[in-house]
Amino acid sequence: MPSLANNPIGLRLTMGGAALAAALAAPCAGAQSASSLYMPRAIKETYVKGTHTMDGRPGAAYWENHARYTMTVSAMPPDRTIRGTEQIVYQNNSPDTLRALVIRLFINIHKPGAPRDGGAAADYLTSGVHIDTFAVNGAPTPWRDSPQVFTWQPVRLATPLTPHDSVRLRFDWHYEISKRAGREGMLDSTTYYLAYFYPRVSVYDDYNGWDTMDFTDLQEFYSDFNDYDVTVDVPPNYVVWGTGTLADPSADLLGDALRRFQSSFRSDTTVHVASGADIGAGKITAQHPVNHWHFTARDVPDVAFALSNHYDWDAASVLVDDAAHRRASVQAAYNDTAADYHHMVGFAHHALDWLSHDWPGVPYPYEKSTVVQGSADMEYPMMVNDGSTPDTIFSRFVVEHEIAHTYFPFYMGINETRYGFMDEGWATTFEYLINVANMGQQRATEFYQQFRVNGWINDPSPAEDLPIITPGDELRRAYGNNAYGKPSLGYLALKDLLGDATFKRALHGFMDRWHGKHPIPWDFFNTVNNVTGRDLNWFFKAWYFDNSYIDLAVRGVTRSANGYRVALENIGGMPAPVDIVVTYGDGTAGTFHQSPAIWQANLRTATVAVPARKPVASLRLEHGIWVDADTANDVWKR
Ligand SMILES: [Zn+2]
Repeated sequence: MPSLANNPIGLRLTMGGAALAAALAAPCAGAQSASSLYMPRAIKETYVKGTHTMDGRPGAAYWENHARYTMTVSAMPPDRTIRGTEQIVYQNNSPDTLRALVIRLFINIHKPGAPRDGGAAADYLTSGVHIDTFAVNGAPTPWRDSPQVFTWQPVRLATPLTPHDSVRLRFDWHYEISKRAGREGMLDSTTYYLAYFYPRVSVYDDYNGWDTMDFTDLQEFYSDFNDYDVTVDVPPNYVVWGTGTLADPSADLLGDALRRFQSSFRSDTTVHVASGADIGAGKITAQHPVNHWHFTARDVPDVAFALSNHYDWDAASVLVDDAAHRRASVQAAYNDTAADYHHMVGFAHHALDWLSHDWPGVPYPYEKSTVVQGSADMEYPMMVNDGSTPDTIFSRFVVEHEIAHTYFPFYMGINETRYGFMDEGWATTFEYLINVANMGQQRATEFYQQFRVNGWINDPSPAEDLPIITPGDELRRAYGNNAYGKPSLGYLALKDLLGDATFKRALHGFMDRWHGKHPIPWDFFNTVNNVTGRDLNWFFKAWYFDNSYIDLAVRGVTRSANGYRVALENIGGMPAPVDIVVTYGDGTAGTFHQSPAIWQANLRTATVAVPARKPVASLRLEHGIWVDADTANDVWKR
């Protein structure tokens, strides 16, 4: 039923044109002309309501909703049934009375007929999640799945939830874990990955109302920051890894394993906490009929868990916050046959160290990161599900990317489902920067071109030129390049334009203002303008709001008093940095870097000075990571 996509129970927000104009014209610090960036009407309204401000900060009226989840989850392999009892206390911090809630049931993507980005193999399909009992504020309430929607369900409240009040929901549920693991499912017959698995309250926000986007397995996350208290019940000789603090390891682990696990919190080198063989042989876990693995986490956007009776378990820790002397745990769980995973704790140790100290240069915000061998190449708060490859350089490349997601979307509360470029774009940026540190500029550039941008620049289809700001759920072919490579090129071009110190100051300004909240793209653009005191909307517009690509061309070369003037044309529209590589008549060469500043006065044409004391025989453009659609127009010869 198409109308269901139109947010049937969302709040319609309206306001008069005069109030809107007044809010957007409000004076603010720093050079600003953010109104020159396209802004959807629903987002303009947030400035009038005062939840966002035009200098890029959260407004005085900013709010977001919060919930406390208390769950017991039972998994008893090889039985495929996962059972949960769950209580949610959902706090309405909004100024709106909520007459209904939207409950997310991601697991229903496995139901036949559910809308999906791709096809579904027979062994992917299940009957979805079954709500066995449901209660609102203690009152048993019939649960009826609407046949028209799958991964979310509206629930009308008998008593509306008024501002600043909370509602208590109680679910008993079960589902059959899918045989075909993607982002979640069975990794093998006795290794399960639980993600997207529990019923939860969808996000209600200030610009979209209830989030009723179908989960199609393309977009990833948009979640409020919640508190979790989760007990995972498993048979003895199973280890559970998951988001949050393992509340009482001594309840789950036998003496020697417990001592090795605890020593890892002081060790930079990898401690082998348990071999898969020892776990299966009864040497590692408590020998109760059922072991209760109890995890707690505060202010995190989600939780995920893995359990196995035969995965190896390694751990170490790394200093992530020098000032607070805070260490974070790094762990890996894997099949002993996965050669790359024997190095995984070392890779993760390096990633947390580098991300904390270099880019973004913000102490890793959680207490741990656990990398589990699966197949998804996918991040969760404090958890990664990555495939194994024989190529350890590629394994490290992938795990660094997934751990970088700790900052975007999780720490930053990004609405990745609509604005994937605020999440994947940053993970791809940090991935490139850590690769430069790991493997040098040239190989990092080749990696970046091969995996992130060649597919885009070599595809002339109009989908690939859709503006990056296009909501992610409206994209199909262009989704990947709009989320990863293109926005990352824009962030790295901004770094080139501003210089590292100013770029980091702007990035930190954005992160300081918005971590633990829900920033929208305009908060980033406005914060950069505000922190730098510059009006960079010409740059943001060309990179993120226009139908554009990269094609720079040389249009002419003339002599000047000090050398040459090179006329450039920006055919594609993206203001990219470029190197002018000059070959002199005597065979020697020189390189002259041009930042995107050359395109500020005129986005389409620029004339740049190339100093030269001797005659130039030829010159060409060198693009590095900012790949060019047509290099035939990049060359000039005398
Ligand atoms: Zn990613």
